[in-house]
Amino acid sequence: MDVQNLIDGENVPATCGRSFDKLRPTDGGLLCRVSRSGADEADAAVAAARSAQAGWAARTPVERGELVREIALSLQARRKEAAEIVADETGKSMELALGETDAAVEMGFFVAGEGRRLYGRTTTSAMPNRTVLATRRPVGVAALIVSFNTPLPNYAWKAFPAVLCGNAAVLKPSEYTPASAAFFGRLANEVLPPGVLNLVHGLGAETGPPLVDSPYVDLVSFTGSAATGRWIQERAGQRLAKVCLELGGKNALVVCDDADLDRAVESSLASAFSNAGQRCAAASRLIAFDSVYEEFRDRLLEGARSYETGPVISEESLERILAALGDARVLTGGERLDRPGWWLAATVVEDVPADAELSCTELFGPVTILYRARDLDEAIAVVNDSPYGLTSAIHTASLHRAMRFADAVQAGVVVVNGGTHGSEPHMGFGGVKQSGTGWREAGVEALDVYTDWKYVNLIADPART
Ligand code: NAD
Repeated sequence: MDVQNLIDGENVPATCGRSFDKLRPTDGGLLCRVSRSGADEADAAVAAARSAQAGWAARTPVERGELVREIALSLQARRKEAAEIVADETGKSMELALGETDAAVEMGFFVAGEGRRLYGRTTTSAMPNRTVLATRRPVGVAALIVSFNTPLPNYAWKAFPAVLCGNAAVLKPSEYTPASAAFFGRLANEVLPPGVLNLVHGLGAETGPPLVDSPYVDLVSFTGSAATGRWIQERAGQRLAKVCLELGGKNALVVCDDADLDRAVESSLASAFSNAGQRCAAASRLIAFDSVYEEFRDRLLEGARSYETGPVISEESLERILAALGDARVLTGGERLDRPGWWLAATVVEDVPADAELSCTELFGPVTILYRARDLDEAIAVVNDSPYGLTSAIHTASLHRAMRFADAVQAGVVVVNGGTHGSEPHMGFGGVKQSGTGWREAGVEALDVYTDWKYVNLIADPART
């Protein structure tokens, strides 16, 4: 199978027929050949978006919302097919892939409803007879650059609000998930006018920069690693483009001495290891109070030893994770499984200093580190001793502890007595510190990314009535 770009409503290969191989994580076999795009293809996609944007923005938000709903309905009708593609290209289970497909559909429904709201504001004025309307306007052309980990929700979180708000877009999916992106593009293309949503495939360092640098791209909305995000911010900053960055995490889950340990273990296992730990919201740090540390650790290890993680996305990813573990004290896992593909068993590590590189680096794999804390103060200090601040969780029976934690922790999301992941379409999501640059995606908060505010001043003259 060949995966091509989608530009101005047409499937087109990369110029000169350049392509790269996409391999299956479960066994390393060839899944498909993918157009390897560079500046020519990126420029063509941006030009298509540019010429489609004004006509698209002229339609009412209600109509745009109806078309977003149509795409979501079509994805819902083909959820099994979509999930099979995702499972195949990422190596995750059908159960996870189906759940993600449904999450992308729900995002479509949520965003579609905004077509009937897209509320602005009116405000009072110090001047008599002046009314001010704050209205949302499209930004223009948006480059949507996303990660591989939950591909369909990643496209849905950006493409749906982008087009609902009247932007035209160029989606640059991860080179590790071209097939799901092509499927999503196909469904969108059956509904949207040509050029409103374009798709360019390619390697990050070749396809991304021309999009980031294009003077015709008004907004770069990026989900991925802090390293790439930093580069994008610097580059797009040169031309003062609007940039939204949703980046990584080194998320912590705290287990207090009054926690329900069964629940804490269950939440920790799912947060650390589901999707092979390839979640921005994964719990890669587990902090247990001294008095329950051993019991929590033993139960966690028992669960980890039988946890089916699934493979990580690539050989490079697996090698990077194993290298990062170095000579850390591994309690379980830590080794490549003896089978084709990129499998790493659920891995638990302890005795890592809080300031060690392993404690501060996001591995994006099925690895979690155990820490001890004397009390809540020390636990909060460990949670906050991180360059990241995306999600966090605490397990406690005490409302007072939960509220103190929620207040003091440096994170964009706090969960009490649950996992570190599990966002929903109507909930704003994003982090502080190096987890992002202050934007929130999903929820109505996403509208702030994909619109600019315009203030319309109406000055009436009562003498002329
Ligand atoms: P990555 O940064 O390697 O790649 C992300 C995207 O950027 C890909 O499409 C890639 O091709 C592209 N890219 C790479 N180099 C580029 C460049 N120079 N210019 C433009 N684009 C470029 O990240 P990844 O490995 O795909 O994803 C994992 C990261 O994503 C983790 O850090 C994870 O925490 C983060 N993530 C964050 C969220 C969130 O909402 N905060 C959600 C999912 C994933």
